Formats: sequence, C-alpha cells, structure tokens
Amino acid sequence: MVPVRVRFAPSPTGALHIGGIRTALYNYLFARQHGGTFILRIEDTDQNRYVPGAEAYILEALQWCGLTPDEGPGSGGPYGPYRQSERKSRYREYALRLVEAGKAYYAFDTEAELEEKREKLRQAGWASSQYDHRLRMDMRNSLSMDPEDVRQRLDAGEPHVIRLKVDPGEEILIRDAIRGEVTVRTEELDDKVLLKADGMPTYHLANIVDDRLMEITHVIRGEEWLPSTAHHVLLYRGLGWEDRMPEFAHLPLILRPDGKGKLSKRDGARFGMPVFPLAWKGDTDENSFTGFREEGFDPRAVVNFLAFLGWNPGTEQEIYSLEAMTPEFSLERIHKSGARFDYDKARWYNQQYLMATPDEELATLLLPEAASRGWKPDKEWLAKVCGLMKERVTFARDILRKGYYFFEPVKDYDQATLARKWQPDSASLFEGLMEVLLNTRPFVAAGLESKAKAWWEAAGAGPGAILPLYRIALAGTMKGPAVFEMLEVLGPDLSRERLVRALEIFRQREKS
Ligand code: GLU
Repeated sequence: MVPVRVRFAPSPTGALHIGGIRTALYNYLFARQHGGTFILRIEDTDQNRYVPGAEAYILEALQWCGLTPDEGPGSGGPYGPYRQSERKSRYREYALRLVEAGKAYYAFDTEAELEEKREKLRQAGWASSQYDHRLRMDMRNSLSMDPEDVRQRLDAGEPHVIRLKVDPGEEILIRDAIRGEVTVRTEELDDKVLLKADGMPTYHLANIVDDRLMEITHVIRGEEWLPSTAHHVLLYRGLGWEDRMPEFAHLPLILRPDGKGKLSKRDGARFGMPVFPLAWKGDTDENSFTGFREEGFDPRAVVNFLAFLGWNPGTEQEIYSLEAMTPEFSLERIHKSGARFDYDKARWYNQQYLMATPDEELATLLLPEAASRGWKPDKEWLAKVCGLMKERVTFARDILRKGYYFFEPVKDYDQATLARKWQPDSASLFEGLMEVLLNTRPFVAAGLESKAKAWWEAAGAGPGAILPLYRIALAGTMKGPAVFEMLEVLGPDLSRERLVRALEIFRQREKS
C-alpha cells in the first residue's frame, strides 16, 4: 500500500473562510485515519491576488483548530519548499515537456488582441469566447504560425504563454469518491494557460506538478474545483503520469443559513455571525471580519461543528473530539448535497463543550479576565461559580458577564417580576426566611433547602411566594442558578449582604 499523503492547498488571498477550515479538517482526518501525512502547501503563484498576512493567518487558524500540518511552510519536510512561489523554477520544465509531446503550445497573443477577439465574437453572437479548439487557429500561437517564425520570436524573447492543447472528441471520466463518476467532453474545455508570460505557472500546472512531486495520493477539496479536474486529468495524461493519478473527492458547498446559495465572506455581516475562524483586520471596516475565536468559541466545538457540516458518522452521537472522529471518518459518508451553515448549531456545540469542561479548567481560563474586571476571586471559589453558571451560558466568558452578581452587588433587579410578586406580606416572609437561612450551618444547598421547606410549611406560605424574590435578590434576574446553590457559593456573609440590601430596596417599592 502506498502511504496516504494529502494536502490542504490554500491560496493566500485573504482570510480563510470557514469552508477552507472544513477542507483542511477532512484532509487531516483522512490522513490520521490512514496513518498518513497531512501537508500544507501555499499556492501563491498569482501575485496579483497575494495578500500580505494571509499565510500567517492560515497557519494560525489551523493551529487554533488543532490541525497542525505534518509538512508545510512552518513545519518543514522532505518535499519542500511548500510555498509555490519558492518552487517557480521547477514548473517551466514540465510545461516544455508538454509542448514537446504536442500537448501544449506557445501563444503570443497580447491582452489587447485577446480582448479584441472576444469583442468580435460577442458581436457575432457566439455563446462562448473561450480560447479553445474552435478559436486557436485564428490566434497567434505555435499551432497557427510558421514554425520558423515561432522559433525567432522565442529566441528574441517575445512575451508568450504556454497553453494546454485540448483536443475535441474525447470524453474524460473523473472518478470522485463523493460524486461517483463524472464525465466531461473535451469540446467544452478551453486551452488553459499553464505558464504565464512572467514565467509563473498558473494554478492548474503548479497544482498538478506539485501533487505529483509531493506524492499526493488523494485530492480532497471544495466542489468549486470539480470543473477544473478534467483539465487536471489531461495534464496527468500529457505528462505520462496517469499511473499514479491521485484519487479525487470534491466536498459539497457550505450554504447560507437560508439555503439560498453558497456561504460567502459577506454573509457574516448579513446574518450576524462569524464565517471565519479568526478575526481579520482588512484595510477598511468592510473588509474586516470577526472570527469564531473572537466570538468566544472553543476550537473543539468549532471543529466538531465543521466536521458535521457535510458529514456524519451514521449514528445519533453528535459530540466527537478530533481523536474520536478519526476512526469514524470516511469519504463515502460525506454528503453530496450542500450543507446549510446553522449558526445556532455552532452555539449549541459550544455549550456542550462548555458544560463538559471541568470547573477548575474554566476557572483557570477566566482568572485573568476576572482580574481585569477588578475582581480577585480565589480560584477554587471561581470554579464553584463556573460550575453553577456553565449550563446557563453559551460562551465561557459569559460566565463572568452574566454571573457578575457573584462578584459585586446586583445592578438591576427584575422590576417586572417584582411588581407581580411583591405582596403586602412579602417583606415579613423575606425577613423570616432570612433569619432561618443565615443561621443554618453548615451553609450548604441541601441543608438550606430543607430548612427553608420546613419553615415555609410552618409559615403556611408556598415556595412560589418567596423563592422568586430571593432569586431576584441574589441575581437580579429569574435566569440565575437555583437559590440554594447561589447561597452556598456566596457563603453566609455575602448572602447576608445581598439579601439585606435587596430587602431594603424592595421595601422602597411600598413607599413609592
Ligand atoms: N489553491 C486552490 C485553492 O485556493 C487549491 C485547490 C486544490 O486543492 O486543488 O483552493
């Protein structure tokens, strides 16, 4: 068996969309499952689209998700360099080899000539103006021109490109692990540029040459590359590399939450959700985006969410760590149709991971933020607060934001509920129960609760008359944790402080 080698091959043209991370993830899982190698290759041959900082962003995003490449620009490896711009000298040789084999040709047409031709065809009502078998003999290239003329031009260094010669009348069969067999007729294909006038290869040539030189066994990439695959098959054939052509798997699109088309960079702003792993600072506000990391997501939740966006293991289980999903993963279980991006589901995943995170770990994570808010909680105590709050929030940092009342006095009391619940006898009930609770020892939830029950039964009052008032007294809201649990965590002194202050404020209601 040939060892599995897969690559994630982004172009550094800006922030990496969440779909790119999913592609990286599926490659990573496939490599891990087969004991193979996961390679990062930076496809930066298009100098016009190069964006500084994009490569660093890609590396950081992969790292954050725990998808560290085995080989790549940051990691090194025996097949480097892994940046195509640093491999420039290698590609020309293969383009020339294709020319010699009659599978490619030189073309001297200038941009102006190409534009003029396209315009003429448009006016003549041609449906397509692509440079292909119908057009090439009208253009200035080594197929249409006199060989001597061509030689002279080449010797004189006249700018030229090398194009793939696609002959009509053939059917190309692409075997795709996800879509099955796809056939493309060569009449439909254009004569793609392989080597540009500046000597840089285009994506097509560089991609195929590098997949070969890096001994890639499986190409797992987005569906948008499926139409290029027929050209790639022709390149493999032309170079005599059909023997070890990689297997292809084209991943379904990620769709907008409303299902109307492909999820795009702009949809983050449109739907009020992140569509990038990390925030990106562009040159304008319009080009700057928030990221899952900055929104407070746990990367494990993001990875789990992304894995299920287009794949599932065929069981009811939804929570899988990277390690756990590795043996379950298979290309065959990837869906053919697009996967809808469901932000609520992402939040749900985060909450699941949050609830499963040990309280002590959360406390360690949150201590610096607590300090920056001017609170100096003891770590063990903070862990108790985390234990109470983590089921009630979606993001770890919301534990401090929403549970601020553990650290400082309540800012706002829920007036609407108070208006309904505060009765003429409320003050005396409140005080009576306070008396009992604050004298109970040990000051733990279960004991406090049974004392309270005995008290309200004796007092002939139901819990409904008093517990909501306590909840609001301690947390300001009905959404806080259960009363007795809050009391235990606050301890007798803070509990007294909070209750006395609340009672005083609630009593004012009677006067106003
Ligand atoms: N550079 C291409 C991209 O940006 C790679 C496509 C492929 O994996 O072949 O997605």
